[in-house]
Amino acid sequence: MINQDRICCEAMGRQLNYVCDQHPDLIDCPDVVIRYFPHVDKFGFPIRDGGASSLDAHYCPWCGAKLPEPKRNQWFDTLENLGYGTPLTDEIPVEYRTDRWWRELGL
Ligand SMILES: [Zn+2]
Ligand SMILES: [Zn+2]
Repeated sequence: MINQDRICCEAMGRQLNYVCDQHPDLIDCPDVVIRYFPHVDKFGFPIRDGGASSLDAHYCPWCGAKLPEPKRNQWFDTLENLGYGTPLTDEIPVEYRTDRWWRELGL
């Protein structure tokens, strides 16, 4: 479930909470044009090249609201300080896979 404070308008809410019975992983679903990655507080347009990459979204395509600045650097820095040298492949604490860590730090 996505925190309400990240849903700027009805269209965005529909996208982020979209459930597709044909595509359990929404990265494969053509009806979904924007994804939210809570652990780095990032909105992105999926690049459907078979991988999981996406283009950073800075504004909502529907209402024009400014989207949050991704916390990618803080995510890496915080985990590196905790001794996780390669956070992408390390076994990291579960809160770093969700928005919990940055909300607790007040970022
Ligand atoms: Zn679908
Ligand atoms: Zn919006």
